[in-house]
Amino acid sequence: MVKICCIGAGYVGGPTMAVIAFKCPEIEVVVVDIAAPRINAWNSDHLPIYEPGLDDVVKQCRGKNLFFSTDVEKHVAEADIVFVSVNTPTKTQGLGAGKAADLTYWESAARMIADVSKSDKIVVEKSTVPVKTAEAIERILTHNRKGINFNILSNPEFLAEGTAIADLFNPDRVLIGGRETPEGQKAIKALKDVYAHWVPDDRILCTNLWSAELSKLAANAFLAQRISSVNAMSALCEATGADVSQVSHSIGTDSRIGPKFLNASVGFGGSCFQKDILNLVYICECNGLPEVANYWKQVIKVNDYQKTRFVNRVVSSMFNTVSGKKIAILGFAFKKDTGDTRETPAIDVCKGLLGDKAKLAIYDPQVTEEQILKDLSMKKFDWDHPAHLQPSSPTTSNKQVSVVWDAYEAIKDAHGICILTEWEEFKKLDYQKVYENMQKPAFVFDGRNVVDANKLREIGFIVYSIGKPLDA
Ligand code: NAD
Repeated sequence: MVKICCIGAGYVGGPTMAVIAFKCPEIEVVVVDIAAPRINAWNSDHLPIYEPGLDDVVKQCRGKNLFFSTDVEKHVAEADIVFVSVNTPTKTQGLGAGKAADLTYWESAARMIADVSKSDKIVVEKSTVPVKTAEAIERILTHNRKGINFNILSNPEFLAEGTAIADLFNPDRVLIGGRETPEGQKAIKALKDVYAHWVPDDRILCTNLWSAELSKLAANAFLAQRISSVNAMSALCEATGADVSQVSHSIGTDSRIGPKFLNASVGFGGSCFQKDILNLVYICECNGLPEVANYWKQVIKVNDYQKTRFVNRVVSSMFNTVSGKKIAILGFAFKKDTGDTRETPAIDVCKGLLGDKAKLAIYDPQVTEEQILKDLSMKKFDWDHPAHLQPSSPTTSNKQVSVVWDAYEAIKDAHGICILTEWEEFKKLDYQKVYENMQKPAFVFDGRNVVDANKLREIGFIVYSIGKPLDA
C-alpha cells in the first residue's frame, strides 16, 4: 500500500488530501500539522474550513484511509510520498521584506523530513514557492541525510477557495514538475499514477521543475492581472457613462480573451494573489528585471486603488461624511462560499470607513466575530471602553463596530449598505423591507455588482454599482 503524508492541514492540504483519499481507496493518506486545534477540528464534526462538498468527502474516508494527526514525525517517516503544503506568506522583515516569500515553515519541514527519514522518499512541493526552491530543498535534504534518495517534485495547487472540491474532482490540469534524470522521471510517474485514478491523462502536464514552480506564480499573476484590468476599466466606465458589464461581455466574446474572470469588483483578495505577485516582483528584481517587476507591481497598485476608490465613493455619496452614520457591511470573506478573510478587501474598506468615523454593523454568514475583530485589529470589547466598563454580554457592540448574525439586523436603521462579498443571500434579500428599515436617503454600494440596481432604484434606493452609470 502506498503511503502519503501531507505536512500542513490548511485550505490546500486538507481538501487535496481528502480528495486523493476519496479517489484512491487503496492509498493511505495522513495529513499532519503542528497546530493541534486544526487537527482536532479535522477530526470533529466541525471542520476547520468551510468548503462546499468537503464535509461529505471527509466523512466518507476519515478513519478508513484518511487520517489527521499531530504526530508529524512518525507519519512523515512512514510515508513514501510526502507532500508539503505549509504556508508561505510574504516576509515581514529582513532581506526582501514585504515582497519575498517567507520559507521558514518550508525549511523547517524539510529539515524535519531529513531528520526522520529512514527510507527513500518523494517530496512534493504543494505550497506555492519561488522558482528554484526545489534546489534549496534538495540541498537541505541531501546534506542532512546521507544514503537516502529524495526526489523533489513540484506539484502546485490550482484549486480556488469556494470551489475547491469541484476543482479537485475535475481539474483543468494537474501540473507535475521534476528533474529530467531517470530518477526524476520515475518520481513523476509515481505521482502521476496517483492522479491517474481520476484525472484524464491529457490533463496531467509534466514539465521540468522550474517551469512548474514558475507556472503557479504566473497563473496567479495572470488571474489577478485580469481582475485589475477590468477594475481599471470600471473606473473609466464610471467617468464616461460606459457600463463595465457591457464592456466585459463585449470583449469576453472574443475567443482570444474569453468571458471568465471579467467581473468588476471592489478588488481581489485572498491569501494568494497579492503574495504571489509580490513574490514574482521580488524574483524579477533579483534577476535584474526591474521593468518586468514594475509591470506586475501595477496589478497590486490598481487593486489598492480600487478599494480606495470604493471608500471614497461611499463617503462622497453620503454628503462627504460618514461620521456617526451606521453602515451595514454585507460580507467580509474575500469571496463567497468561503470563510477565509485573508487579504479580503473588506478589511481595507472597513478600516477606511472607520477612519471617517462611520459606525459599522458587519454580517457575513461564514466569518466569526472573533475573526472579523482580529482582522480589524480590535480586541473584543476593549477598543473604546476601559476594561472595567466593558459589557459582560457576549454580543460585541460599541460605538463603532458591531458584528451581527443576520443581514436584516445589520441593515436596521443604517444610512447605507456596502455589499463586499457576493453571497447568494444578498441577492435574495427583501429590499422593500430593507428600504423601510433604513434611514433616508438609503444608499446601496454594491462592491460585487450582485443586486439589480434598477429594481432597487424603483424602490427608492440610491445605488452605486462598480463601473456602472451613476445615479443622477
Ligand atoms: P494554511 O495557512 O491554511 O495552512 C498551512 C498549514 O501548515 C497550517 O495549518 C500550519 O500550522 C501548517 N504548518 C506550518 N509549518 C508546519 C510544519 N513545520 N509542520 C506541520 N505543519 C506546519 O495555508 P494554505 O492556504 O493551505 O496554503 C498552503 C500553501 O498552498 C501556500 O503556499 C499557498 O500559497 C498555497 N496555495 C493556497 C491556495 C489557497 O487557495 N489557499 C491555493 C493554491 C495554493
